Amino acid sequence: MRYYVLDRGDQLSVDLSESFHKMASEQGLQLDAESPDIVVSIGGDGTMLHAFHTFIDRIPSIAFVGVHTGHLGFYADWKADEIPELIRMMSSHKDEGMLKPRIVRYPLVDLEIRKKSGTSSYICLNEFTLKSVDGTVVAQVDINDHLFEMFRGDGICVSTPSGSTAYNKSLGGAMIHPSIEALQISEIASINNRVFRTMGSALVLPKHHHCDIYSRKEQNLLLTVDHINLPMDDLISVRCQVAAQKISFVRYRPFPFWNRVRNAFLG
Ligand code: NAP
Ligand code: MN
Repeated sequence: MRYYVLDRGDQLSVDLSESFHKMASEQGLQLDAESPDIVVSIGGDGTMLHAFHTFIDRIPSIAFVGVHTGHLGFYADWKADEIPELIRMMSSHKDEGMLKPRIVRYPLVDLEIRKKSGTSSYICLNEFTLKSVDGTVVAQVDINDHLFEMFRGDGICVSTPSGSTAYNKSLGGAMIHPSIEALQISEIASINNRVFRTMGSALVLPKHHHCDIYSRKEQNLLLTVDHINLPMDDLISVRCQVAAQKISFVRYRPFPFWNRVRNAFLG
């Protein structure tokens, strides 16, 4: 069992990752920064976003697990004082009779960003957003190659099911259970009046549908992929669809999504 640990960088998380390494080596786990089987994120949901993008090229062969050092997280569902138990479970995979960990797989959103200067691909764990740095965004939204609407406003958010509880929620989008392979498009302050009109509701697209967002004026845009900012002034279009690959999480014990939602937002 090869593992890697990424922490948020605050003192508590750094200390915990040090003690993680100590306990892990006692249990015969092997630290491997190149090709780990399990990547442990110690911090918050933001730390898991970092971990995901650090290993973006190895997503199909890695399972992630999150330890939270702040409030309860969506991706980080282990408490700091449970680390010894987590390590025991990680090291007992090989033993006879031990329960194999359940792996849950969550859908991701795949992006193809076309600029005058070239094309690049990204994968989001939470969401993609397109916003303007100077004034109103003007963008055409096509769904499955048919014109859907001309958008004017602050921006557009395209989220994964597990990202639906993050930025998307603040925009009035629905929370989507991650067993549903879908993406959600939500508006950021659209302009709606007699002249300009957008749908106004969040849209949920199934797998195998796609949405293209075309820049429709010369504009300085800020594209975001999770915590990553991509400023650009020569965007042509972005294609969004449910990604072919998924992220795997190790679940040594059940913690249903709706319980996490309740815990995080209602207490
Ligand atoms: P951040 O400013 O620390 O993140 C904002 C908050 O979102 C934090 O409390 C973070 O939890 C939480 N969060 C992240 N992923 C979540 C998820 N899947 N479900 C529920 N809550 C989640 O910045 P960050 O840590 O780098 O995270 C980047 C994310 O922030 C973006 O992907 C976006 O979803 C979110 N964001 C939200 C808004 C908004 O709601 N208005 C605006 C910008 C960005 P932790 O403290 O545990 O990290
Ligand atoms: Mn954060």
